[in-house]
Amino acid sequence: MTRLLRSWVESANSKTCGFPLNNLPYGAFSVDGGPVRCGTAIGDFVLDLHALESARIINFGGTLLTGAWNGFMALGRDDWNRLRSELISLLKEGAEAADSLEQYLVPMKNADLHMPFTVTEFTDFYAGRHHAFNVGTMFRGRENALPPNWLHIPIGYNGRASSVVVSGTPIQRPHGQLKGPDDEAPRFGPSQRFDIELEIGAIVGQPSEGPISVAQAFENIFGYVLLNDWSARDIQAWEYQPLGPFQSKATATTISPWIITAAALEPFRVPTPEREKPLLPYLAEPAPMLYDIMLEVGLTPEDGQETIISQTNYREMYYSAAQQLAHHTTSGCPMRVGDLLGSGTISGPEKGNRGSLLELSWGGKEPLTLDTGGTRCFIEDNDTLTLRGKAAGEDYIIGFGECAGKILSAKNVP
Ligand code: CA
Repeated sequence: MTRLLRSWVESANSKTCGFPLNNLPYGAFSVDGGPVRCGTAIGDFVLDLHALESARIINFGGTLLTGAWNGFMALGRDDWNRLRSELISLLKEGAEAADSLEQYLVPMKNADLHMPFTVTEFTDFYAGRHHAFNVGTMFRGRENALPPNWLHIPIGYNGRASSVVVSGTPIQRPHGQLKGPDDEAPRFGPSQRFDIELEIGAIVGQPSEGPISVAQAFENIFGYVLLNDWSARDIQAWEYQPLGPFQSKATATTISPWIITAAALEPFRVPTPEREKPLLPYLAEPAPMLYDIMLEVGLTPEDGQETIISQTNYREMYYSAAQQLAHHTTSGCPMRVGDLLGSGTISGPEKGNRGSLLELSWGGKEPLTLDTGGTRCFIEDNDTLTLRGKAAGEDYIIGFGECAGKILSAKNVP
């Protein structure tokens, strides 16, 4: 396991800081309503990379002058590696540049964070073994919990890029068609079973035309974010057959504001869990391509105190993002720079490891008790849901920042 890379930015050397020099996540920020700029987080600061490229301290063809990371991602792996190594040289302890670079550090508390990249397409998978088993058990019973295809195919659907938002964006409770369990006719109203899905999003940084291997897919992934795939369970239950979720998952998907690069996560690679059935050869993992990332979910009622309602780990996924991306291309589907792939809900084996309220409250039958005494089956108005993630090295952590959203009451529908 690699050790902390010490920086002259002193706050980056703390064991509890999520943004040490080992991380260097990529984001987009503004100050006081000014233009959106590319930056990297270091300790308690954002380093203004727009300013560094303007001052010709670094040179990436103007891609860092844009306020989004798509242009930089399109440059490819050699430039991805070059920026990381140049930033490490500039920011490491003892670097000659320290005095001249201080002017480009913006205190994190003064920075407003924006979408770090333009989401060109969004696909969401269903690749968590425990989540699929729990949900299947609720709907079909233990015997038929996993659909027959599940252990062979990374199941997914094509989602909406237009509804992906950055952490902190309020989320309006959706309306939709709701139907009770009996033969009654459906009615139209606000979702009563609005939920989270704790996921990791993988960002495609290189385009492809036609099928690519799992190894190539791994190389094409630029980085990762936390992802909350907000889901209206009551709308979903009525609409999902035979083509899968539609309006139930089109309200919003929230991502964390910092892209954690594959390079920063390299020391944390782990293999996918043991196969229960052999995979077809095109899906075989040539090397460990999953990551050991600790995850948690907090629920904070209005004016209340946060309760941690779930803790799990990304390594629970049955399929890695590379396997999902390779599978996605088998049809010949072109992938673009800025394509976002949701992992699917990440649940672990125990009750406290479940990544959705649907599972945590077992379909609303077992309400959760909050630390302050209230209970929840699903999200109530003005609740804030916060996902967090970190990978832990020997003496440092790679933090993901927060992926948070507050639910506002449903607006009237015309
Ligand atoms: Ca999902």
